[in-house]
Amino acid sequence: MALESYQLGLTGYPLDHSLSPMLHRQALHFHGLTGDYRLYSIPPAPEGRPALAGLLSRLRTGSLHGLNVTIPHKQVVIDFLDELTPVARRIGAVNTIFLRDGRLVGDNTDAPGFLSDLQRFLEGFDPTEGEGPRQALVLGAGGAARAVAYALVTSGWKVTLAARRLEQAQEAAVWLGEAWIKPALLQPAALIELAPLALIVNATPLGMVPDVLENPWPAGVPLPRLASVYDLVYNPLQTALVRTALESGLRATTGLGMLVDQAALSFEHWTGKPAPRLQMRQAAAQTVGGVVR
Ligand code: NAP
Repeated sequence: MALESYQLGLTGYPLDHSLSPMLHRQALHFHGLTGDYRLYSIPPAPEGRPALAGLLSRLRTGSLHGLNVTIPHKQVVIDFLDELTPVARRIGAVNTIFLRDGRLVGDNTDAPGFLSDLQRFLEGFDPTEGEGPRQALVLGAGGAARAVAYALVTSGWKVTLAARRLEQAQEAAVWLGEAWIKPALLQPAALIELAPLALIVNATPLGMVPDVLENPWPAGVPLPRLASVYDLVYNPLQTALVRTALESGLRATTGLGMLVDQAALSFEHWTGKPAPRLQMRQAAAQTVGGVVR
């Protein structure tokens, strides 16, 4: 049933740099809805478990109408839910929770949010077109990397997941259960050996404010000649990795568009109204301090 007022929020730890309140307030305002989007900072389990349980019970009783979840609760929160969408089940992580027919449902909007922004980014551009399945390299093997790998594989990409701990990449590949996901070590020797890459995605936090000089791509290894680069980090608007890629003549973007698209999908779950993506993108870019693509 459509409401006039929505109490929404995000739980995670820490939540210092979140743009989500601004994005969702913008969307509420656009539709003339009242309510708010608040931050619920809850420390990791086991310490934070009772607080997490309390917050989720507010969704059941209707004093909260929608919840986003971020690090470190994306997996732990599954214990408190009645149902997962097929995407959340495959990825094994939840970032959006809502009540449907009295049941708490967990979804993952990171995967479709990434895919829609990637399609916008690559529109009309595919240097390896016609040479078989496109090859992508994902740096990192945490929750976001799993969502990205799932999104890529389900749209026809072959994916290498490269992590500093090989066992984490192996676990992710096994969990996703895809013959097209190959685990690798995030180190120069392994990266140089990879087949021609059409896409590199950074799904580590390297390069995020305040450590803006950090770069997940190993120094001294040239970036593949045909690759486009998508950095999930969106603050700063131009990361060290994106700068390196642009200086090498490659196409590159940060993940602000994904942030907006995953938020838009959450908002649509909760309110049933179309999210004002353009206004959200402009507001996000203004906040981070740049021009939106
Ligand atoms: P996560 O679950 O903590 O995973 C982070 C991954 O990065 C892990 O594989 C971790 O390895 C690796 N990593 C961390 N520090 C590293 C280092 N110094 N060198 C090499 N690898 C390192 O986090 P997540 O949820 O996947 O998020 C990852 C990034 O994506 C964050 O910056 C997040 O803000 C961003 N993100 C953006 C969007 C968007 O909408 N644009 C959406 C989701 C996430 P270890 O386990 O060994 O530490």
